[in-house]
Amino acid sequence: MRRIMRILLFAIFVIANAYNVNAENKQLIQKDIIELVNDIFTHNNEYVKQTGYQYFKRFIAKQNPRATVVKCSDSRVQTAAFDNNDATNDLFVIRNIGNQIETAKGSIEYGVRHLHTPVLLIVGHSNCGAIKAASEDFSHESVSIHKELSSLRLNTKDLNHAIIENVHHQVEVAEEMFADLVKEGKLIILGTIYDFRDDFKKGYGRLILINLNGEKDPNVLKLSPYLKEPRNISIGIID
Ligand SMILES: [Zn+2]
Repeated sequence: MRRIMRILLFAIFVIANAYNVNAENKQLIQKDIIELVNDIFTHNNEYVKQTGYQYFKRFIAKQNPRATVVKCSDSRVQTAAFDNNDATNDLFVIRNIGNQIETAKGSIEYGVRHLHTPVLLIVGHSNCGAIKAASEDFSHESVSIHKELSSLRLNTKDLNHAIIENVHHQVEVAEEMFADLVKEGKLIILGTIYDFRDDFKKGYGRLILINLNGEKDPNVLKLSPYLKEPRNISIGIID
């Protein structure tokens, strides 16, 4: 009887402890959330103070972006890397996992055909989780995630190659969608890779041009009339 009591007390102790740890974790998560929620509005207060009517008046009536951008939702990939720290009214950005066109055709078409952006910029990136997941077995994922991943068609298991292959594929899809505009010279499609961890050995944070209107050969790209100073642009990736 005493033995049973001891086991029972021990079990109660373990359960109570687990409950406490759980409660502590919950409290920590709550603290993080409270901090973040308040950060958001504090930052907005600062933004309101720093900007004002003078800043907003140039685009209050109408947006006038120069480029439609398709990029991954990855939080490490932000437009500040290639847009002078302010993409406001300059970039019409579509983000999703794997910087893909297939699942966001309407938004991309809106940027290109309604807002008439003369540039469609596709940005892949190093260490892309979506590309990694898409090149492995993702049958366990939810219906929604599965749908996003299955529209990324990859033929290689090597992550860096798959990232490159995906950008080329997206440019191909875009070329088909906007063949008329490309032909008329009203749109150029750029395929790039943003490398925040120097996987492609061009420097941390480099935006590497790998495709322009379907052209992939770095030697031909260097001669493109669209590039003012090709020497200052990272062009192509060597295996
Ligand atoms: Zn990604």
